[in-house]
Formats: sequence, C-alpha cells, structure tokens
Amino acid sequence: MERKTRGNVLNQVTNGKQFRFPSVSQGTRPARHCKTSFGARDFGGFQDCFFRDRPMDTARIAVVGAGVVGLSTAVCISKLVPQCSVTIISDKFTPDTTSDVAAGMLIPHTYPDTPIHTQKQWFRETFNHLFAIANSAEAGDAGVHLVSGWQIFQSTPTEEVPFWADVVLGFRRMTEAELKKFPQYVFGQAFTTLKCECPAYLPWLEKRIKGSGGWTLTRRIDDLWELHPSFDIVVNCSGLGSRQLAGDSKIFPVRGQVLQVQAPWVEHFIRDGSGLTYIYPGMSHVTLGGTRQKGDWNLSPDAENSREILSRCCALEPSLHGACNIREKVGLRPYRPGVRLQTELLARDGQRMPVVHHYGHGSGGISVHWGTALEAARLVSECVRALRTPIPKSKL
Ligand SMILES: Cc1cc2nc3c(=O)[nH]c(=O)nc-3n(C[C@H](O)[C@H](O)[C@H](O)COP(=O)(O)OP(=O)(O)OC[C@H]3O[C@@H](n4cnc5c(N)ncnc54)[C@H](O)[C@@H]3O)c2cc1C
Repeated sequence: MERKTRGNVLNQVTNGKQFRFPSVSQGTRPARHCKTSFGARDFGGFQDCFFRDRPMDTARIAVVGAGVVGLSTAVCISKLVPQCSVTIISDKFTPDTTSDVAAGMLIPHTYPDTPIHTQKQWFRETFNHLFAIANSAEAGDAGVHLVSGWQIFQSTPTEEVPFWADVVLGFRRMTEAELKKFPQYVFGQAFTTLKCECPAYLPWLEKRIKGSGGWTLTRRIDDLWELHPSFDIVVNCSGLGSRQLAGDSKIFPVRGQVLQVQAPWVEHFIRDGSGLTYIYPGMSHVTLGGTRQKGDWNLSPDAENSREILSRCCALEPSLHGACNIREKVGLRPYRPGVRLQTELLARDGQRMPVVHHYGHGSGGISVHWGTALEAARLVSECVRALRTPIPKSKL
C-alpha cells in the first residue's frame, strides 16, 4: 500500500491536482470501519492505526471534545462532508462531561454577542432534529422526549413572548387558574418542549459516529498543533478547555450544582423565570436546580448549595418534601458572551493547519447544539474545499 509522508504538504500532487495546504494524502483501499476506542498511549502510532486503509482524497478531521458539541459536530461532519475520516479525541467521554450533568431542557439562553435571528435558527434546527427523534422508535435509546410545564415570574417580564415562543409547542400565557398553584407568582408561560438527556444521547451519537466509520481516542491535548501533521483539519469543541487550547480569556466557568431525586409523581416542569430555580422531570429522575456561580471551578458538591436548592424547589412544589434517593451533581458551564464559530489558520515553521473553533455554549448548549454543529460542519466543508482546490500555476 502506498503512503505519503507528510513533509511535502504544500506541493503534494494527487490525481494530477495540487493542493493548497496540509493536504489530503493518498491511500488505495476503502476506509476501515473501526469500533475501537484507543487508550491514551496509542496516540503516538495512531497514523498507522487510523489511516492505513484510507481511500484516496480522504480528508482527516480531528474533533477535540466529546461533550454534546463535539459529538454532534462529528455526526454533522460525517453526514455533510464527503470523503472524510472523523476522529474524536477527548480526555473525557460520557458519562464524565459537563453535558452529562445538564438536565437537557430545550429552553434557550440568550447570548448577548449573537444576533437573535441566528440564535433562533440554531434553536429551531435543534428542536426539529430532536423532535424527529422523539417521534421515532429511537426516542428511548437517544434519551429524547417531550415535556410540558410552566415558566413563572414574580413580576411581569418586559418580554412576555420570548423569541423562541413559536419554536416550542403550544406556547401560551398561563391562566389565572394555573397561576393559583404558585401564589408568589403573577405571570407565567405554559408550553411543551423537549428534554434531551445526555447520559443516553451521547452514547447514541457515539454509536452513529462509529457506525459511519469514525474513531474515538482518549487523550488530553495540550496544544492543538500536536495534531499536525497527522490531521488535515482540527475542530475545537473543547468547551471550557478552550481557555487554554485557544488562549481564549473570554470563556470562563459558571458553576452549576443540581440534585437528582426520585419523585415520579412530578410530571410537569416548573422553572422560575430567573432561571435559578427549576424542577425538570426526566426519564429516570427529577432534576432540581440550581446554582450559577461565575468563575467558580469547584467540581465538588456543596452541602449548603444542596440545602438551598431543595428548599427553593420545595417552595415551588411542596410535594418534593417526599422526594428520595437524592444525588448531587456539579458541572461547569463553558460561558462566553457568544458561541465561537470561526475558522483560524494555525501556522508554524512554514506549515499550516486550519482549525474550526466551535465552543462557548454556556448555559444553553443542549438547546442549540445541532444548529451550531451544522454551522461548524459547513465551515469544515469550506476548509476541505480549500484543501482540494488546485493552487494556480502562477503561485507555484
Ligand atoms: C448544572 C447544569 C445544567 C444545565 N442544564 C442545561 C439545560 O437544561 N439545557 C441546556 O441547553 N443546557 C444546559 N446546560 C449547559 C450545557 O451543559 C452546556 O452548554 C453544554 O454541555 C456544553 O457542551 P460542550 O460539549 O461544549 O462542553 P463539555 O460537555 O464540557 O465537553 C467538552 C469536551 O472537551 C473535552 N476537553 C476539554 N479540554 C480538552 C483537552 N485539553 N484535551 C482533550 N479534550 C478536552 C472534555 O473532556 C469534554 O469531552 C447545563 C449545564 C450545567 C452545568
């Protein structure tokens, strides 16, 4: 089998065409579908493991990060980008990511640096994608289901009808009779939305990635350039890890502590409009929240936080005094004023490697992940096109 060395990246010729920068290299056999996860020590020799049997012109794409953002991006790339191999590289996989801690309610959070019409498009695409799953035989395996309930306010909000009101189902103002359940509240919105439970959804996505020939590799990356020249394109979905990997000081943690309890009689979600207190019933437990602690990196549960959460939630739904099997969970939201969706060309020693950044989803990553993943896949497509565009003779 013929393999190219990666040294002559700027002048490589494949099928009579010349590539612009770090090139898709040659192989002769169809791609091997591998369902193995490689351990951290295997990375050194992974070129042999992963790429020996690649077909010609395959673009080698590394996705860094295996939360909801990384895995959905990998699936979208596999669907939208022809002739590519996708490898997910991450130091943590489900059930150990931030995404696994999220309750997974589809209620958007506003990103101050992103136009509202873009946020609405991301939410609509995510809602439509998950609604199709919820209506299929895959719903249980994927952990996606519909849930109805109330968002309640102690004073009438300036925006009585939020931008996402026509994306969720049956959005309406709560009636006086419904509001009687919440004596401290004067205004409320009733609607049906989706809940996407990552402890089931992430393995479901991983199965899809491996089923279409993708790979997973457990490894911490200290510098994205480590992936050059083994990969042609890197997609950075490392969430909070981007503070170091992309040197981005705009991203910081917003700590969230929740309780997972058994209270199967609670069937409707209840969310205080401030977003601080919520009760979200799910497939195996009810999630009670929460906290929003900016700049706090502490991943250990705090007993005082737990007491406060339980007391706030019991004030909203007194039957929760009877909840049992209480488990504490903590996650660090990767907060940024806007999601970073951008291509950057890294260059060192005359070599170049495109990186598509896709991170910074903060408090609402589950709500918009599919929309932003589609956008990231389009950016990757552009990079692949550039790789495959012959350099004009005048530039040689
Ligand atoms: C308590 C809580 C409740 C939430 N509830 C909701 C909700 O109801 N609805 C909603 O929409 N959102 C919710 N969120 C927000 C949501 O969880 C996040 O927006 C989302 O999980 C971000 O996904 P991600 O893939 O970017 O990050 P992560 O899940 O953190 O994934 C990042 C990945 O990158 C990997 N990584 C990082 N650095 C490196 C490195 N150097 N080398 C290799 N790998 C690396 C990590 O191991 C991980 O696999 C909640 C968050 C919390 C904490």
